[in-house]
Amino acid sequence: MHCTTCGVETKQIATKTTSRGAGGATKCHRLACGHAWHVTTSTAGEPSTNGTATPCGCREIVIVNDLLVAGHRLAIEKDDLREEDLRAWSAQVLEALDGIPAESGSQSLSRIATTATKSAMSSTSKKVRDLNALLVRAVTAVS
Ligand SMILES: [Zn+2]
Ligand SMILES: [Zn+2]
Repeated sequence: MHCTTCGVETKQIATKTTSRGAGGATKCHRLACGHAWHVTTSTAGEPSTNGTATPCGCREIVIVNDLLVAGHRLAIEKDDLREEDLRAWSAQVLEALDGIPAESGSQSLSRIATTATKSAMSSTSKKVRDLNALLVRAVTAVS
């Protein structure tokens, strides 16, 4: 799906139908960049008349999505990333992941994130990558 904010084609990680009415259904398209868009599709026999995308306001993903957007910015900085920026961001990530259920049979996302941030073996950029991947899993988990 094309992300209007990023201006590029971005992978969709999850969708959720947020409302369904007589006029059509609204679906939340959750993208890997951390943005999400609502598109209403008419059910009145006009499947091609998709409405325009509007920014998502879903409460269950707003924090995780913000952190994912910030995480992508940090990922660009790679090893120039300041330690304190990483620390502040990862603390928020841990808090956001706490209470989000993982896929069944998996360790909790916050526990995996804690291990990832504490790893002395990982470079700063690897920690950002690992936490971004967990945020993507969190979006999928709540969708
Ligand atoms: Zn985007
Ligand atoms: Zn939404």
